[in-house]
Amino acid sequence: MRNVKIFDTTLRDGEQTPGISFPLSYKIQIARQLDKLGVDVIEAGFPAATQGEFESVKEIANLGLSAAVCGLARVVREDIDRAIQADVDMVHIFISTSRIQIEHTVKKSREKIVEDAVREVEYIKSHGVECMFSAMDATRTEIDYLKTIYRAVEEAGVDIINVPDTVGVATPFQMYDLISKLREYLRVPIDVHCHNDFGLAVANTYAAVKAGADEVQVTVNGIGERAGNASLAEVVMLISAVEGLKTNIRTEYLVETARLVERLSGIKLPPNTPIVGENAFSHESGIHAHGVLSNAKTFEPGLITPEMVGHRRRIVVGKHAGRHQIKKLLEDAGCFVSEDILAKIVEKVKDLGDRGKKVTDLDVITLAEVMMGEVSREERAITIDEATILTGNRITPTAILNAEVEGEKKVTSAIGVGPVDAALRAVAQLVGKSIKITEFRMDAITGGSDALAEVYVTVEDDEGRKFTARGAGPDIVMASVDAVINAVNYLMKMRAR
Ligand code: MN
Repeated sequence: MRNVKIFDTTLRDGEQTPGISFPLSYKIQIARQLDKLGVDVIEAGFPAATQGEFESVKEIANLGLSAAVCGLARVVREDIDRAIQADVDMVHIFISTSRIQIEHTVKKSREKIVEDAVREVEYIKSHGVECMFSAMDATRTEIDYLKTIYRAVEEAGVDIINVPDTVGVATPFQMYDLISKLREYLRVPIDVHCHNDFGLAVANTYAAVKAGADEVQVTVNGIGERAGNASLAEVVMLISAVEGLKTNIRTEYLVETARLVERLSGIKLPPNTPIVGENAFSHESGIHAHGVLSNAKTFEPGLITPEMVGHRRRIVVGKHAGRHQIKKLLEDAGCFVSEDILAKIVEKVKDLGDRGKKVTDLDVITLAEVMMGEVSREERAITIDEATILTGNRITPTAILNAEVEGEKKVTSAIGVGPVDAALRAVAQLVGKSIKITEFRMDAITGGSDALAEVYVTVEDDEGRKFTARGAGPDIVMASVDAVINAVNYLMKMRAR
């Protein structure tokens, strides 16, 4: 079976998303996650761009990852030297080949462009480093000139050529035709890089693979210049689950990877995003939900399951859901609750339903976990005696907490970007540095300014144990503090055992 290689450019093209700049620590986290996911190549950046970029590429190149690390460079000797100095496994060089870009930006003859490309490919290869060559704006370049330059670099020893649809104007039919012609003409492996200006990045990448492309360039969540690049998750599942080709991706980490990049980039995924979106495997209507519960293939594509991509199926639980249905739902999730907790959950689901809130099966499971994990007053390691939280337009949000921590009186204070942030930081100080808040979600249940706020937080300790807890009340700051304190008490109780 054909194996299609995955070249990830989240850290290079993805970072060129308007408004994104990843600090080094984020880049390292993303690189490690991509390596765990199993991408073949990580394009870590453009080393000649800035000193910071050079250092981050070098750091990633020296992490000892299984993936090859690639650095981008123009067909310019200084750029290439910087990339080589950054210890990359591969240098990806590019030069414009389309009429419009040659006239307005490159301003060299076509012969000179070929000559420069050949010379620099030979230079890179003489350093024992792999080389990828891109004819920038390839999809707007005359095919004869493309063949000439790709053949020339092939003869110079390039390892792989890339065919970028730099401005996202190709259609799947054109892409299929172009890659077919190049595949027939060249021996060197072919890679493609597609942009999403017309929503066709994934379709064009797929067409290129059908025409014989050996490798594809993608980004996590499709982030990138303008409308972005082809989405890693969509391309991988399309060519593996639908087309039946092989990739080296461990698909069970797709959702985890998407969430990490969503969080670090600040670019929220719409819930209807394919494969990794919140709703990708959610069902609400009675007919669909019933069908899916008896056989998932009835109302899902069937070629992929939520488990394959690290997702979970969600069924919206109506307020008419009975005790038996909720009990069964919990037991299917491996959650066995006592009768009185079950009664409380049923009551809560009805109450939320009456307030107009949609409750999913995962909400029910969270409720059960929260209720089972509630720590009795006597067992609590931390209790808050007094909380003062200040905010306003002329003061820095500040939280001061008086608390009892394992029998000892403590006072802490912290500032934050807002009152909730300040309060959570103060709680974290009470507990010590070893506890971090990994997820925070707040829902307002119904109505006006007296609406009940419900907060769910997930807290992780230094041993990787996670616990989700809930806090609720009309005061959003205190509901947040309660949720964290509940989670921390539960973790400390587990640790004491
Ligand atoms: Mn690009």
